[in-house]
Parts: sequence; structure tokens; C-alpha cells
Amino acid sequence: MKRILIKDTINKINEPVLLKGWVHNHRRLGKMVFVDLRDRSGIIQVLFMDRMLEKANQIRPEWVVEITGKVVERGGKNKNESSPTGGVEIHATELKVLSEALTPPFPVNDETKAQETSEDLRMKYRYLDLRRPSMRQNLALRAKVNQFIRNFLTSEDFLEVETPFLTKGTPEGAREYIVPARNFPGKFYVLPQSPQQFKQLLMVAGIERYFQIAKCFRDEDQRADRQPEFTQLDLEISFTEREEILALIEKMIISLVKEVCPEKHITRTPFPRITYKEAMETHKTDKPDIRKDKNDKNELGFAFIIDFPLFEYSEAEKKLVPSHHLFTSPQDPEGFLKGEVEPEQAISKQYDLALNGFEVAGGSIRIHDWKLQEKIFEILKIGKTEAEKRFGHMHKAFSYGVPPHGGIALGLDRLIAILAGESNIREIMAFPKTNDAKDLMMDAPTELPKAQLDEAHIQIKKK
Ligand code: ASP
Repeated sequence: MKRILIKDTINKINEPVLLKGWVHNHRRLGKMVFVDLRDRSGIIQVLFMDRMLEKANQIRPEWVVEITGKVVERGGKNKNESSPTGGVEIHATELKVLSEALTPPFPVNDETKAQETSEDLRMKYRYLDLRRPSMRQNLALRAKVNQFIRNFLTSEDFLEVETPFLTKGTPEGAREYIVPARNFPGKFYVLPQSPQQFKQLLMVAGIERYFQIAKCFRDEDQRADRQPEFTQLDLEISFTEREEILALIEKMIISLVKEVCPEKHITRTPFPRITYKEAMETHKTDKPDIRKDKNDKNELGFAFIIDFPLFEYSEAEKKLVPSHHLFTSPQDPEGFLKGEVEPEQAISKQYDLALNGFEVAGGSIRIHDWKLQEKIFEILKIGKTEAEKRFGHMHKAFSYGVPPHGGIALGLDRLIAILAGESNIREIMAFPKTNDAKDLMMDAPTELPKAQLDEAHIQIKKK
């Protein structure tokens, strides 16, 4: 017999079926044993009686089993209206154990108790945590969002292009993860903080409309809502202006919400465009929460923030730093180049998207005139030699013909968490790290054998 999924049992009443899955629950009731069997499609009640009793008594929650039996309709009051398969049950005729299981360190079959379990324990045993239907739902939502984005942008004539992980630093203002280059003692790759430079180089390459669902890496001291590796929907467009990008993102999000979370509603469409100045004056933040009812879990308040200052003063570095990143164009490139605007006063072509008080996207129209780029380096006190060393490849590329371009990156983890109604982005990531960037399940980071370190030319400093 071929295995069928639990969700399909409702179409097989009075027929024999073969099911495979995990024991979700196990209870004895006089001369009967009830087992809830779980597979990827759902949960169903299985009844064991008579000659099946002895074997059924041996199995325990989370064992992996194969059950043959007949699908039987459950009478009136025995129906479980809260489950899609609650109208039927299986009367077992055969039971085969495929894998026994230890008692899980927290109950997989009780959502409330699992939620009360310490998050560290859940992360250490993430493969058990993910067995819970609610976690599976979060991953399914994430997959749907990714799928939707791919289809939408492909139909908007974008090309999905993958860019490298082993690369050279790209400036997004965070510390970088570094990877020693075994074949080049003393040299390092760094993991990208974002595909920023590659996507701009793809514009030089004539791709014109690029997107990628990209992993980004930032070695920052973690805050509750940050992860050392996270996912962005990254895109870039040639021959574009701000409004084209904002309108595209707005159209994508409105259709995404309609298709993937129809129960949600958006506070205002078109999304309001609020200047940075206005946001700071009226909302005291550049991530305003524009929802009408902040207690309505289905309300999504999107707002674009525009007209950011080009630079901000960093107390830590005692100098001006880019508000966004150093490829962002000032609003009046000619005036800026001529020195008509003071750097502190300059407004940029940066834009952000805020959702319910969180920043979920940021982007800008870029500088495509290298003279202007050099002026930015000058203001940021990046010397000619350093600029050439760090960004010479961009300079060279731009000298072969660069279209005006701009783009945006949308933080998918935060967006999906909000859509899923989760306040913690770890809940919508399969294998997240702790706040101090540890992977408790794999036990990473770890020490490495000396031979491996030698090969990578690494010597560990004694404390
Ligand atoms: N690379 C930028 C970021 O990660 C986004 C962009 O400018 O497109 O924030």
C-alpha cells in the first residue's frame, strides 16, 4: 500500500490506508489506546483495540511509526470540530515502529508548555521545536512570502542573480565577519554585510533589474531583534527615480498581504511618504508607527520616510558618517559638487520603509558620477590611497559606462515576523542564533584542531 498524508484521510472513508509519522499523543482508556499521529499535513486520532493493544501500549510520544488501518467516520459528539481531520479516525490493523525516541526535553505536543520552555532549550533542540505545528506554520509562511516575491519580481522583469559570500568588505557600517584565505597567508575574505557593491556592479553589467533573497552578515553586538546572519530582499534598478522604487515596493507589499495574509489590513494606501524632518517633529522617530489601533493584531501601518540627511555626526568616531551608506546620492548632486550646500545640511536620496514602528526597508538612489563619490570620500576623511584600495574596483567599473541607478533592501525576517504576529524574529527562522551569536544546537562557534588552524595560518593569542 502507498503511504497517504493525514490530511487526505477525509476522502478515504471506509478504506484501508497506510500512514507514516510521529506519535503526537498517547492515552490509554480501558481496553483502548488512542494515539494522535502527526505528519507534515496534520494530526489524526488512531484507535487501537483487541490484538493491537499490546503493541500500542509500547509506543511513546515522538516515536516514528507506520500505521495501517481503516478510516472510520466519527459519530456526532465524538467529532473534533477544531481539527480538519476531526471528523474521522483510524482503526489500526497494523503498527510498525520505524524509530524509537527519547522523552523530549520539552513537550512537542503542547503549544502552551513549549512556549513556556526556556528559549535556549528550544534552540538547542530546534529540530524538536520545529516539530510543533505552529513553528511549521511560521516556516510555511516564510516560504510563501519568498515564493510570492520571486514570482512578483520575475513578472516585473527582474532577474534573480546570486552574488558571492566570500568577498571583500562592503560598507554598511557594521563590523565584518572575516574568513582566512588558506592559499594566501595573511589575507582574508569577508562575508558581505549586504550585496550592495555587487548589485551596483550588476547595473554596470547592464542587468538593469536585479533582485536576490540574500543572506547578509554583520558582526555586531547583538540586540534582541538582530541576528548575525539575516535575510534581505535586495534589489536594484537602472535608469530609475525614487518614486519608481517606492511604487514597486508598495505594489508588491499590497499584493503580498492580499495573497499571503488576507486577514490583515493596511492602515493607509498609497503608503504615506513622510519626510525625515516631519517624522522627527511629529513622531519623534524616523520609524513612525502610523497604525490607527495599535492593539489590532491585523493592522499593518506602512509609511515611507524620505529626505534623510546625507550625513550624521558620530560621537564615537568624532566625525561625519553617512546616514545610510557612502554610495547614496545627495539630492542636488551638482550643487553639492560645487560646494553650494554644507555637508551637514545636505539632504540625500535615501528612503526607508517603516512598518508598525519598525524599519523594514532602506535604500537610495546611488552616486554614479565618480567625482561626486570622491567628494563624499573627502568629507568622510577617506584618503585617496585608502579609497582606491577599498573602492578602486567600483571606480574602474564606473569608468566603463554606468547607468544612473538605485535600489532598496527589505529585511525579510522582521517583515515575516510581523506578518506572523511574532514579536521575536527568531520565531520565524529555522535555525536562529542566540543574542550572543551562538548556535546552541550545532555548538558553534567552536575551537578547531591545530592542523586546521595551521593550514589557515592562524595562531591563537594566549590570554
Ligand atoms: N545595502 C543597503 C542595506 O543593506 C540597502 C540598499 O541601499 O539597497 O541597508
